[in-house]
Amino acid sequence: MNRGEIIVPQEEMNRQAEFARQVRELPHRPKSYHVVTYGCQMNAHDSEKIAGMLEEMGMAPSPQREDADFVIFNTCCVRENAERRALGNVTWLKEVRKQKPDMVIAVCGCMIQEPGMAEVILRRYRFVDLAFGTANLHKLPEMLYQTLNTGQQTVNVENRDVIAEDLPIRRLRQDAAFLTIMYGCDNFCSYCIVPYVRGRERSRDPDTILREAEGLAASGVREIMLLGQNVNSYGKGLPGDPTFAGLLKRLDGIGIPRIRFMTSHPKDLSDDLIEVMAEGRHILPQFHLPVQSGNNEILKKMNRHYSREQYLDRVSRLRSAIPGIGLSTDIIVSFPGETEAQFEDTMNLVREVRFDSAFTFIYSPRTGTKAASMDGIIPEEVSTERIQRLIALQESLQQQTLARFIGQEEEILVEGLSRRSSTAVSGKGKHAVSVTVDGNEQDIGRILKCRITNLKNNTLTGERI
Ligand code: SAM
Ligand code: SF4
Repeated sequence: MNRGEIIVPQEEMNRQAEFARQVRELPHRPKSYHVVTYGCQMNAHDSEKIAGMLEEMGMAPSPQREDADFVIFNTCCVRENAERRALGNVTWLKEVRKQKPDMVIAVCGCMIQEPGMAEVILRRYRFVDLAFGTANLHKLPEMLYQTLNTGQQTVNVENRDVIAEDLPIRRLRQDAAFLTIMYGCDNFCSYCIVPYVRGRERSRDPDTILREAEGLAASGVREIMLLGQNVNSYGKGLPGDPTFAGLLKRLDGIGIPRIRFMTSHPKDLSDDLIEVMAEGRHILPQFHLPVQSGNNEILKKMNRHYSREQYLDRVSRLRSAIPGIGLSTDIIVSFPGETEAQFEDTMNLVREVRFDSAFTFIYSPRTGTKAASMDGIIPEEVSTERIQRLIALQESLQQQTLARFIGQEEEILVEGLSRRSSTAVSGKGKHAVSVTVDGNEQDIGRILKCRITNLKNNTLTGERI
């Protein structure tokens, strides 16, 4: 596909804007909406675009889903339980609608893009009015217009690898924003369904990204999170071969106080990127670097293209260039055929690296992926026992790694009131660890300087300076 085919043409975007106008004028259109989001930041950002489009169509947010005229489930299918939870909640809403017959129910996102799911929705979930995949997000106005006018189910899973620019957005937070720099993934890790449901990797034009970042800075955003399934391979297929390191350097020059990014694939983590981070003024000293396993044979079966040794080498390069850097990871336990000794390799890697946090998952077979047909499914009780051991280890180590912050100064971006006290606020420090300090609602969205004074149950507290 060439660039011209990837970017959705302006005429099509105008056509969708016209459908949005027409929906707004329908007397029987929904007046309120509620978006239910599952999964990763990418989905959270898609939900912001969905909310933006719905508001363009004249709808107002409804805090409770059962009160909304239009309810949309933005689904995830990375693991089976995410999928089961979404389908369970959609079915529950069918009952709610008995009291509210005009409610429109929509399901979108990764799960809908799974092979065979469209048929399932058409046959078994007939009460769903509208279903569409990740590639058709920008067509929401047209699809909703059709559904409202015909009263028939609209299902659209047409899968083209496109980029739709300039969609309206209703951001979740005013002080922090997501900024997608690339869509899709070409890595085909053998366990992962993402490349099948989010399509081929495609990067946004760097100047467009810069313009968006400048707009965010002008609107008072203090922190941006750059998003992509593998930001480190940003730029493939773009004229002039831009790199992620180069893009980050340009973004650093804008002056937004805090820049983060995720996710990074260890195989593509370049020395240039480490250098840009070390020299940057606004790039936060934090890195999410999923390792998945600490055993070379399993990493090979996972199609990850790096070894345990190469991973550890990247970690030590990061740590020597950016002392004290916050490190987090993703780990999958019980990949098919994983032996106790191979699992122990992962435990030992965790002991060696000492992450600030780790997202741990039990392997979940996904139809259509390579790993789904591999032998050696690990019994559930073994997987449960392994993940519990891993979590216990991580928690005990975290207590030690977080202790390095005690006595240090940190700057936190306040996200909200603390869950434990109404006279305290919490937010993320530069190293991406959460810190609680005295404060009130007026502090939300502000960057506060504090000194870390205490660590209890893996929670840091500090006092304002
Ligand atoms: N692109 C990112 C990356 O490579 O790290 C994240 C993709 S995925 C949404 C987030 C995490 O889910 C992965 O890092 C992996 O640990 C986990 N994951 C993906 N597929 C899985 C599966 N089939 N079973 C269990 N965990 C899975
Ligand atoms: Fe999935 Fe691997 Fe792509 Fe991440 S890099 S989205 S784990 S295939």
